[in-house]
Amino acid sequence: MTTATTANVGRGSQVLTGVEFDRFRGRLIRAEHVDYDIARAVWNGAIDRRPHLIARCIGTADVVAAVRFARKHDLEVAIRGGGHNVAGTAICDDGIVIDLSAMRAVRVDPAGRKAWVQGGALWGDVDHETQAHGLATTGGIVSHTGVAGLTLGGGVGWLMRKHGLTVDNLLSVDVVTADGELLRASEDERPDLFWALRGGGGNFGVVTSFEFRLHSVGPTVLGGPVVWDASDAGEVLRFYRDFVRDAPDELGTVVRFGTAPPLPVIPEHLHWRPVVMVGTCYAGPIEDGELALGPLRACRAPLLDLVGPTPYVAWQSALDSTVVHGWNYYWKSTHLPELRDDLIDVIAEHAFACSSPRSYAAMFHLKGAVSRVAEGGTAFGNRQASHAITLDAVWRPDEDFGERDTAWTRRFFAALGRFREGVYVNFLGGDEDPGRVREAYGDSVYDRLVDVKTTYDADNIFHHNQNIRPRLSDRVGGFDRAGEA
Ligand SMILES: Cc1cc2nc3c(=O)[nH]c(=O)nc-3n(C[C@H](O)[C@H](O)[C@H](O)COP(=O)(O)OP(=O)(O)OC[C@H]3O[C@@H](n4cnc5c(N)ncnc54)[C@H](O)[C@@H]3O)c2cc1C
Repeated sequence: MTTATTANVGRGSQVLTGVEFDRFRGRLIRAEHVDYDIARAVWNGAIDRRPHLIARCIGTADVVAAVRFARKHDLEVAIRGGGHNVAGTAICDDGIVIDLSAMRAVRVDPAGRKAWVQGGALWGDVDHETQAHGLATTGGIVSHTGVAGLTLGGGVGWLMRKHGLTVDNLLSVDVVTADGELLRASEDERPDLFWALRGGGGNFGVVTSFEFRLHSVGPTVLGGPVVWDASDAGEVLRFYRDFVRDAPDELGTVVRFGTAPPLPVIPEHLHWRPVVMVGTCYAGPIEDGELALGPLRACRAPLLDLVGPTPYVAWQSALDSTVVHGWNYYWKSTHLPELRDDLIDVIAEHAFACSSPRSYAAMFHLKGAVSRVAEGGTAFGNRQASHAITLDAVWRPDEDFGERDTAWTRRFFAALGRFREGVYVNFLGGDEDPGRVREAYGDSVYDRLVDVKTTYDADNIFHHNQNIRPRLSDRVGGFDRAGEA
């Protein structure tokens, strides 16, 4: 069915009323709509933006219609996948949000070990469908994170050291470009675009479908956290450095510095106690995992050891309630080299100096299959870094830790300054120096991304993101987009 409907849209005070929005079957949500405040909310409660129009698409044709409409009326454009990005780039002021949150279908081919995933799906959707067949691909470690934004930035997770980043498992995408054209990109079709989409973020179009390679995983894996008192952080990190250096690729680990969350699996007397926690996931036979994890579990008499056979889907959502939608978040992040003693001292000194019991730092161990893809093999930068750390201020709307813990992340980040080795683009916040986007890629990858951007989005229609700016061209329209002259 084809519908023509009307919308009031515009930039700033210049509002067009009753313009025709042709061939759109989803929902158009405007400020007067009863669902408007829910529809404009993203995961980070600190983001409060008011688009003129939210175009909630239910299919690729809707996305095409929305892009063409935005283009025709010269609108600011934001793309919403899972709405999880800390910078809140899924939502804009004024303009239009091309919202894919109603497009969450996942189709699995168990024999061919592939999955097709729509552009608004969450990782919980993918894990649910793929694990029904004992399959998985590398995804985020929180199940309510969006597949689209995570994949387009690179994708780190428990499985990456064994199976590569999420983008290393991407086989093809369907993408609606700035001209409103639906293209397929893969190694064989438009390889330049496919290369850029594997790390370059939402700069090149709206991805409506991803095709992923799947691997045998679980469905029961050996996983869980080992927990020590915060005062042991320095010694635990020194041990951890040597432990992960020789760890098999099957072993994924993330170190979390913060208070023990009040989860049912954690004894009550430990709730809110400052702890260092090494989360683990072994993507191989349970017995091999027991052997591999033995030394870590024996290090310095942990307060708690919750490592055990666990359904992969359960472990993938175990942290969900520690990062709730609607709380306020502010992040700083950087990649780090191997943990030298002086770096460990800096981490141990700053990691627990926050005020909010909800704030934390999380450090992903990279290497393994991540570093075996050549630098520049995809658009994900800094593949040789050892760790990616995020320093995360977290406070509820009724709490006043915001200023103090934002300052804490900045102090901590400054103290890490001399160790910095690039950054993961998906961990960048909304107030970063634009130079940090280049830092996320390194010069040669960034320059190549600019070439692809100039080919596919010369007018920088898709700039509400960690922006890669096209080379200036005569085609730039009547208003200044993301600072272009
Ligand atoms: C609690 C938490 C845990 C996280 N854990 C991990 C983790 O384990 N591993 C990891 O790699 N990252 C992780 N991240 C970071 C995550 O990768 C980013 O937040 C990512 O942007 C989330 O994707 P999304 O679809 O929800 O993004 P959204 O907020 O919806 O969008 C962010 C940007 O992505 C682009 N985008 C989104 N959808 C599309 C689309 N369909 N087509 C084109 N562009 C699109 C747009 O540029 C948009 O501005 C985590 C984030 C949070 C908040």
